[in-house]
Amino acid sequence: MIRKFISRVFNGKKARPGQHEPAVIPVATHGITRNRISSGSRRVCTTLQENGHKAYVVGGAVRDLLIGAEPKDFDIATDATPEEVRRAFRRSRIIGRRFQIVHVMMGQEQIEVTTFRGQLGDDTKKDEHGRVLHDNVFGSHAEDAARRDFTANALYYDPSSEAVIDYHHGVGDLKARTLRMIGEPRGRYREDPVRMLRAVRLAAKLGLAIDPEARRPIREMATLLENVPAARLFDEMLKLLTSGHSVKCITQLRDEGLHHGLLPLLDVILEQPLGEKFVMLALANTDERVHRGKGTSPGFLFAALLWHEVLAHWEKLKATGEPKIPALFQAMDTVLDVQGEKLAITRRIAGDIKEIWLLQPRFDQRAGKRPYGLLEQPRFRAGYDFLLLRAESGEAEQELADWWTRFQNADGEERAQMLLPEQAGDKKRRRRRKKPAATDSPPPAA
Ligand code: ATP
Ligand code: MG
Repeated sequence: MIRKFISRVFNGKKARPGQHEPAVIPVATHGITRNRISSGSRRVCTTLQENGHKAYVVGGAVRDLLIGAEPKDFDIATDATPEEVRRAFRRSRIIGRRFQIVHVMMGQEQIEVTTFRGQLGDDTKKDEHGRVLHDNVFGSHAEDAARRDFTANALYYDPSSEAVIDYHHGVGDLKARTLRMIGEPRGRYREDPVRMLRAVRLAAKLGLAIDPEARRPIREMATLLENVPAARLFDEMLKLLTSGHSVKCITQLRDEGLHHGLLPLLDVILEQPLGEKFVMLALANTDERVHRGKGTSPGFLFAALLWHEVLAHWEKLKATGEPKIPALFQAMDTVLDVQGEKLAITRRIAGDIKEIWLLQPRFDQRAGKRPYGLLEQPRFRAGYDFLLLRAESGEAEQELADWWTRFQNADGEERAQMLLPEQAGDKKRRRRRKKPAATDSPPPAA
């Protein structure tokens, strides 16, 4: 505690970037040997260093390794310009127009290489609320560190020396399980309000406490999120929902006052009296999938978040006498028209969402050839997982979900026996009718 205090006084919290020397923490202290980082990122660093540049693994990867978590990816920061980076690697390309970064391919790995960013100046372009619009000056290593959001995110790992370079007491803060903002939190939130969401997400994901100084202003500054472009919010919310800690994140967003009207997505989640159980189940299910290393698709997630809205519209339309399937199409379009724009759902994701929804009424059809056709659908698995969630929340019959679990795992003969009798009106298919499933059929294999 005292050491931290002294070091912060000496490091001078208000020191301007570049005015204080970083702590260089040797491997003997932090224990992260170079084999812990991906071979691709190691090679990118060595190559750049051989070309006379500085190059480090930076950000989330170093933080995660220090805390004992598995890094998602390995980003590199360097003093080489994007053009210099591109020339150093055959399989690389510059992306982005404003602040260029370089994607380097190393085998299967794609590594993002970013040139050190410079300090914001008086001429930095901002909107009327102080949000930084253009952020495209290169800078020194120290300036780059000062531009990062949290102290734990401003750590640099040098694979050659295996040292961690720490300008802002990030290692100490991580040890104390604190997420601390670099610099003055209000100013940093004004520059980029998304940092409020990042604070909540990273704290929930890493089990850190947001430092009170960074936590306090969130409630009153939350409205600044209204000025952030929808697409950027969408990206950040998607990260939050697929972090493996979405339930915790959502709860904490609500606790920090980051909800009503600010984050359309959150309104969707928290303001559906009927569907809340379903949505929370879907999020818990997503978290579990992330922890088991299974993929999650934005389509599935958003299909779940918006399902009860679709159901409500669908019911209304059916009550007016609209036939079932056209009513579903209409309900889907209504919901996606309104929410799609608010949430910045892309066309591609909207397509995935619709596919999952449209499969749902088809699960009701358990006679004739139709169940076999459904099994062959490319999106069957997603549709079936969705059905399981619906059953778990009580919205669909558990018996229906169980039937599909058994049907998938049954062999040809068993499957034929499971088929239900044709409904009246399905006469054409009567020929293929089989006996109804026996009640002592085998338990689900899953
Ligand atoms: P994750 O593990 O979820 O990827 P991350 O911290 O690596 O978390 P990224 O979005 O990958 O998040 O960002 C990489 C690094 O870039 C961060 O660690 C941080 O140093 C810096 N960074 C990202 N977003 C911001 C921001 N809004 N303001 C300042 N620095 C940022
Ligand atoms: Mg990252």
